[in-house]
Amino acid sequence: MDFYLGIDFGTSGVRGVVINHQACTQIEVKYPWANEDVSDLATAWEKALFTVVRQIPEKLRRKIQAMAINGTSSTVLLSDAAGKPVDTPLLYNDARGAVALEQLRKIAPVHHNVLSATSSLAKLLWMMQQPTFSKAKYFLHQADWLGFLLHGHLGISDYHNALKLGYDVEQLKYPEWLQKLQLPIQLPTVLPPGTPIGKLRPEIASEFNFPDNCLVCAGTTDSVAAFLASGAKSPGEAVTSLGSTLVLKLLSSTRVEDARYGIYSHRLGNLWLSGGASNTGGAVLKQFFSQTELERFSSEIDATKASELDYYPLLQPGDRFPINDPHLPPRLTPRPDHPVEFLHGLLESIARIEALGYELLQEMGADKLTRVYTAGGGAANPTWSAIRERHLKITVISSVNREAAYGTALLAMRGLGK
Ligand code: ADP
Repeated sequence: MDFYLGIDFGTSGVRGVVINHQACTQIEVKYPWANEDVSDLATAWEKALFTVVRQIPEKLRRKIQAMAINGTSSTVLLSDAAGKPVDTPLLYNDARGAVALEQLRKIAPVHHNVLSATSSLAKLLWMMQQPTFSKAKYFLHQADWLGFLLHGHLGISDYHNALKLGYDVEQLKYPEWLQKLQLPIQLPTVLPPGTPIGKLRPEIASEFNFPDNCLVCAGTTDSVAAFLASGAKSPGEAVTSLGSTLVLKLLSSTRVEDARYGIYSHRLGNLWLSGGASNTGGAVLKQFFSQTELERFSSEIDATKASELDYYPLLQPGDRFPINDPHLPPRLTPRPDHPVEFLHGLLESIARIEALGYELLQEMGADKLTRVYTAGGGAANPTWSAIRERHLKITVISSVNREAAYGTALLAMRGLGK
């Protein structure tokens, strides 16, 4: 029996999932982030990677044919010619790249996804101003560097991680406007996610008893990996993540981009994964209800009846998608005395915003929505699913597999688009 390993470097920790050739999970292993030394993050990542690998029973490791890693999007670092980090990595949410935005606006196309303080390119321009830059040879994403630890090849990335570096995922090359910058650093060669890069380093294969010909494949980002895990694969299929925020991803045969709404598309083989994220979501529910109350009050809601309460639940003013208004005020009144009625209004309103989001993506050219898988904490709420079905007018399914590591294991097994 052949096995495949996916490793997810997420925001809360590292997870590994081993699947068999029928995509059934064999084991899941974890390494939660504790108080990592932020001045030496790369060493913490390396330790986490091999701790997770060690937790996989040897009898499974012996049969792993291929593996891949997903990192958090736009977590980046610089390394020297030997792959040693020259400074501490910049995490996905680090906004120090804001200082480079003015320079970037002069060269990047209007509304391009690199025009954000947290984009990989903005981070690189910030890094170029630091004294350690003189020692740097390669600019790498988290997944590229971790992959290097396994296969030993530097300067290789995938087109999911490279999107926010400005890589043109349609033409499959770095665009001219980026080349004009003549960046004094080696940008990664970009491969389709899941492409075999090389064999696992022999010393690692022998230390951990992996097969000698075990392959390491190009990785992806955490959010694409979570989409791959859901099982959605045909145009029109979507995944809604009902976590702290509301994130929509719709698979489509056309590419949809609109920076005003924060909408952009990842390439998935010959298809496009278009998505948008709203600030509404579970974090607002958590503000008013405990977990037990959420479950108890939800079960008392009659999901067949629409609540008349028309809210826009937000923790603070401002949303981008599906309403682009940085000052949009949270709307949470009138508040009924009865908590069940209040919760009904909140769930109904978030469902309305979700439906509006899918309408917007379709208006912009994405394929017609046919089926919605659900991930995140809210996926476990059947009342909410029924309310959402009423608004979306299609079937809502709770994803069986929600782990990004599972999606990355699928990528190692069969690449994209099959
Ligand atoms: P994160 O985006 O932080 O990773 P999770 O996917 O873990 O979030 O989901 C947590 C959110 O799910 C919380 O904000 C909580 O309000 C919401 N949630 C959890 N259980 C339920 C439920 N039964 N009904 C509705 N929302 C829920």
